Amino acid sequence: MDNEKLAQLLFPNNRLTVEEIEKKYPQRNLKKGAEVTRFAPSPTGFMHIGGFFQCIIDRNIAKRSGGVFYLRVEDTDKKRELIGASTIILETLKRYGYLPDEYEEKGVKVVGNYGPYFQSEREEIYKAYAKKLVAEGKAFPCFCRKTDGLNDVKEKREKMFALGITEDKDVCRNLTIEQIEEYLKDEKPFAIKLKSAGNGQNKIKVHDVLKGELEIQENGEDAVLLKSDFMPTYAFAHAIDDHLMGTTTVVRGEEWIPSYPLHIEIHNALNFPLPKYIHTPLINKIRENGGKTKISKRIDAEADMRFFAKEGYEPKALIEYLTNLANSNFEIWRKNNPLLDVEEFPFDGFNITANRPVFDIVKLNDISKDMISKYTAETCYEKLLAWAKEFFMENVSYLEKDKEYVLKVLNIDREKEKPRKDIYKWSMVLDYFDYMFSAPKAYQIDEVDKKKFEEVLRSYKKYIDLSDKDVWFNSIKEMASSLGYATDNKEYKLNKEKFKGNVAKVCEFLRVAVTGHKDSPDLYEIMSILGKDKVLERISLIV
Ligand code: GLU
Repeated sequence: MDNEKLAQLLFPNNRLTVEEIEKKYPQRNLKKGAEVTRFAPSPTGFMHIGGFFQCIIDRNIAKRSGGVFYLRVEDTDKKRELIGASTIILETLKRYGYLPDEYEEKGVKVVGNYGPYFQSEREEIYKAYAKKLVAEGKAFPCFCRKTDGLNDVKEKREKMFALGITEDKDVCRNLTIEQIEEYLKDEKPFAIKLKSAGNGQNKIKVHDVLKGELEIQENGEDAVLLKSDFMPTYAFAHAIDDHLMGTTTVVRGEEWIPSYPLHIEIHNALNFPLPKYIHTPLINKIRENGGKTKISKRIDAEADMRFFAKEGYEPKALIEYLTNLANSNFEIWRKNNPLLDVEEFPFDGFNITANRPVFDIVKLNDISKDMISKYTAETCYEKLLAWAKEFFMENVSYLEKDKEYVLKVLNIDREKEKPRKDIYKWSMVLDYFDYMFSAPKAYQIDEVDKKKFEEVLRSYKKYIDLSDKDVWFNSIKEMASSLGYATDNKEYKLNKEKFKGNVAKVCEFLRVAVTGHKDSPDLYEIMSILGKDKVLERISLIV
């Protein structure tokens, strides 16, 4: 077979040669050791938390080494593409302060010299490499087509067997140039396939940065490189792009391990050196039955990065949580450096846990609570308002109109040495402080306490004094003892039967009357912000 001739037949109009392309993508001029990483999502939906986890690693490796982190949108499967998905991805990265060093905003701008950064705009490039492989006898056209219901491949295979051709490789490998010319004349669509040298039975050793050396089955499949619409498959496109764009380390999900041998074979066929590969563990979640399964697009709201934005999580809290999942040293570092930014955590993206991490929202909430507790009321206000403007417009005018009051509410148990750690997302603030905006709709009071509760409230109408915290508390103590409650806890513990309860119980009743809850931030602060009239009004609603 004259492969040169075949290549020319299949690709008569290629505008670019491989030599021309290679010139357009010179080696990057980076200092020694600088790493180039990329995030290469397919725009088929929202941005998955697992993808963002990879971005943390990508960015870390590039930044630490003085290299480049770029975004490449792998949009060659037009059937699966979701309009707007690439915008969601870029916006998510921006929200987290992860704007890549190189990227493309469709129709707006291209940042970087190694674009286009959308694969669908690189068609000529893939075609040039496909032509080269055909010319070198490493790839061939395949005219088999899956049609609805009927599988041409099967039919053709049967015919070949009838002719005594039994090799278990793609049947189109054996077409003569005359047959191919015939098909081309009939304008039969064709794909380009790799002429695999493997047999699919042998084991080969492959290397992964996290998992070390792995022994897996070599590729034996004549895999599709270009589909009949001339769009490349992932296997082909990523090899070419990572080569031209100078990727030194590929960070991608461990679901790619089974096809890794194919990717290696394609790199070899193209004479490309293999970059380093980090196959990141999938993030798991504990299920109700106690089992663990990977976090799923279909059932887990947290799989979609927009969930965290809508709920009003602090971007830094999520980064911190995922960094913690990636590297277990983070927790100790955080303990020793409570005030440092997560960016300062000296972690190495090449050295992350290879075990599947388990996503635990409670842990994320704790990290977030800790972070938000350190903010001033003003910072909380700004962030709450920004969140409301994006996701909860109904509340914006209210927040803006009553800024001074909202600030006071946000400052309850804040801006002090040991601030309260309660708020973990902005969407919870107004509900959490609902009692600061309207009277409680329900009261957390036990049936057995009801009579005592009412007695305390009736009495408090006479004792209420909010002039300062000591005066306030003394008046409560005075009332408590007049009603038969202990004001000294030691004494109460020794002779419980002598008292109706202790002063803490009295405070609990007042707290329930004002907030509806047994537990709340500082009651004095709450009462003084509400003011005497409102507190009395609330008590009057009950007794
Ligand atoms: N486009 C592939 C995906 O979304 C990317 C895999 C890779 O990073 O190479 O799964």
